[in-house]
Amino acid sequence: MPIFENTFIAVYVLVLLFIFGTIFASFIACTAGRVLAGVDWVHGHSHCDTCGHELAIGDLFPIVSYIALKGKCRYCGARVPISCLFTEVLLGVAFVLTAVANPYIDAVLLRNLALEVILLGISLTDIWQHKITNGFLFAAIAVYILTEPFMPNLTSYALDGVVASVGISAVLLIASTIMEKAVKKTIIGGADLKLFAVMFLFTGLWNGLFMLILTCLSGLIGMLVSRKKKIALAPFISGATVFVLLVGDYFVNSYLTLIGG
Ligand SMILES: [Zn+2]
Repeated sequence: MPIFENTFIAVYVLVLLFIFGTIFASFIACTAGRVLAGVDWVHGHSHCDTCGHELAIGDLFPIVSYIALKGKCRYCGARVPISCLFTEVLLGVAFVLTAVANPYIDAVLLRNLALEVILLGISLTDIWQHKITNGFLFAAIAVYILTEPFMPNLTSYALDGVVASVGISAVLLIASTIMEKAVKKTIIGGADLKLFAVMFLFTGLWNGLFMLILTCLSGLIGMLVSRKKKIALAPFISGATVFVLLVGDYFVNSYLTLIGG
């Protein structure tokens, strides 16, 4: 179903997507925290990290609760990190941009939205504890398998993803192993390599290479700006993946036309 045929429907869908984005961000941040803490993430109630008080429905509305409670816990007054608000707005905006880039309510849209939720979870666990859990990677693979039959140009699409995943990952593994031998330092962690391999399934070959370049450039800038020798790579892989899934075809096609003459 096209989104932008009618202004009312367009505004309605985009507002709804923004709200869903903020809700999913708050859900996945909570899940990521529980996965790292090794507690049951399916059951159990949300609680304040400082005083442990169980949170009521009124405390759990994304953005609205944060502003209404002025970024503090209602029970103990402890500050809720501003990063909570930031991730909620971030995913809300990402959901809206995803619909703008692919203005149809179809499998491609659903796949991209689901992947963005998982990537936010992966980025948070990597930022918090330098961990990328297999559970999130399996969730991404499940999204790939479940949505693949509904993709346009199925056969070439699926083949492209698998070739990219195996091919680029193998080259990446060999290159990083050789470089590690040379400089005696870890270049790309094993978990990052796994994340790359899963993301190449979604991007395919050309967009995968584009994503790799974007990750390296943005990661390098991130290292320079933060002045740290080791940074969490998952947020950069995630950002680059979402970027190429939304607008990568445009850049890749322009490039291929350029070198094709
Ligand atoms: Zn509290």
